[in-house]
Amino acid sequence: MMSRREMICIVCPQGCRLTVIEDNTSKENYEVIGNKCPRGKVYGIEEMTNPTRMLPTTVAIGKAFIKRLPVRTEYPIPKAMIADCMTIINRVAVEAPVKMGDIIIQNILNTGVNIIATRDMDKILEL
Ligand code: SF4
Repeated sequence: MMSRREMICIVCPQGCRLTVIEDNTSKENYEVIGNKCPRGKVYGIEEMTNPTRMLPTTVAIGKAFIKRLPVRTEYPIPKAMIADCMTIINRVAVEAPVKMGDIIIQNILNTGVNIIATRDMDKILEL
């Protein structure tokens, strides 16, 4: 059976409406309609074959003025791995000071992708 999916391209703010149709006669096995640029075609095919997402979240932090440090994946990771990544991220606790871009978890679940801090967090003065 031919599969066909409608989706919104999230690569840029234009948000093109894509239709991705399975097409065994084309080189990539899929035809993409509605994309205003080539990146939309790549996105549409990836969504059908190996959908990925950036994962913005937080980890526990000690010795800082707030209790959670914002972090994210350095690159998109397979959507199917997000729940397992969150299990690991939820077990991690770091200590201030942290600088934006610091690696908080290296190569999470062997994806080749690091979890990095998305802001600086100073150490609070201990009295
Ligand atoms: S298809 Fe191209 S122009 Fe349209 S939303 Fe995707 S990246 Fe932007």
